[in-house]
Amino acid sequence: YEEMVEIDSSPTTGSCTRVVRAAEARLRAASFSGTEAQVIVPEGAPEDGNLVARIEGSNRRAGAILLLAHIDVVDARREDWTRDPFTLYEEDGYFYGRGVADDKAMAAIFLDMFIRMRSENYRPRRTLKLALTCGEETSNRVNGVDYLLRNHRGLIEADFALNEGGDGVLSEDGRPLALLIQVGEKIHQVFELEVTNPGGHSSRPVPENAIYRLSMGLARLSQHQFPVQLSETTRRFFERMAGIVGGDAGAAMAQLAADPNAQAAAAYLSRNPNYNAMMRTTCVATQLDAGHAPNALPQRARATLSCRILQSDTAENVQAALERALNDPQITVRIVRRRDPSPPPPLARRILDPAERVAQRFWPGVPLVPYMLPGATDARFLNAAGIHTYGLSGLFSIPGENNAHGLNERLRVASVMTARAYLDALVREYAATP
Ligand SMILES: [Zn+2]
Repeated sequence: YEEMVEIDSSPTTGSCTRVVRAAEARLRAASFSGTEAQVIVPEGAPEDGNLVARIEGSNRRAGAILLLAHIDVVDARREDWTRDPFTLYEEDGYFYGRGVADDKAMAAIFLDMFIRMRSENYRPRRTLKLALTCGEETSNRVNGVDYLLRNHRGLIEADFALNEGGDGVLSEDGRPLALLIQVGEKIHQVFELEVTNPGGHSSRPVPENAIYRLSMGLARLSQHQFPVQLSETTRRFFERMAGIVGGDAGAAMAQLAADPNAQAAAAYLSRNPNYNAMMRTTCVATQLDAGHAPNALPQRARATLSCRILQSDTAENVQAALERALNDPQITVRIVRRRDPSPPPPLARRILDPAERVAQRFWPGVPLVPYMLPGATDARFLNAAGIHTYGLSGLFSIPGENNAHGLNERLRVASVMTARAYLDALVREYAATP
């Protein structure tokens, strides 16, 4: 963990390849052979290396289990941080450093698990596979999961996969409330809005103006809400969280879980950005670009929309809804780099039941709660390829305290140690099933 955090793997100043070479050296020292553990560096991207490893199961016909973690991190500048972001500090019960939470804790836990299993000569019934991959955080790197699926699918082929995206929730005073398991996520789709105009000299304005027209359309769009659509995962999330959250919000959750058309309950929960994002597709303007000179009427005005689409919806449906909400045929709506749809994995009892049963040994009475992540992870590639992927880390924190992607990223030391024991016990349980 320390070595992994201290090797910078950010896009601007770091290297994923150095991280996976260090991991490879540790696996070799634990007697993993060249076919059992290998580094895969995409052509033309020497710093975007990935590592894949395996422990062969005794039943070759049973599907494999893939343990996935990304080892790239978001940029971090020393001068902005209180401590050096690429030194692992342990202070006041927290680990500090870039990537300690996202996602090097899981990467280190999985790597440590593989080394421990080998030192015990542990032989699972199902084959276990490990993938430590690059390119999750930034689109200017090669996405390791996508690359492996296209070029070395056999190395990560699995019945199902465990990934980031489902953490444990602590109360403000540090009590465990719920263990989330991510079952599905939204699809990030960018749209571009554009108005064009012949323009002219700014000394003789005319009513028809590209900036005004686009702005009025955006004002209408700001009032638009996509309809509430609950999936089986989000319905169960609200059902299970109702009792934990309590109060008015809990009552609204219980109502909505019982009746997806409960409008007042949905409106109440929509005021919370996280619940709102779980209930509906959202689109928000994130960038504007218009005009070409201070003294000229604008010939073009463009806006970028960041849409987070429910997995039951499509980019084309959202495009049509945007056109209706803009209500102006002169504003064109274009899909930018169309994202492929990716279905959610099933809410399968053979996955959820062991996860909850083992959790009871570590956090008695804490429920396992299915969760739909409003953001995006590499699960979208695996689910699209038919490898059902669940987000489950067992890492507990107070929501927001880790500040992943932000300054002074941190994670509770006790959370790392307990998650390590939990995931070890759970993976062995999964690996023993026929
Ligand atoms: Zn991550």
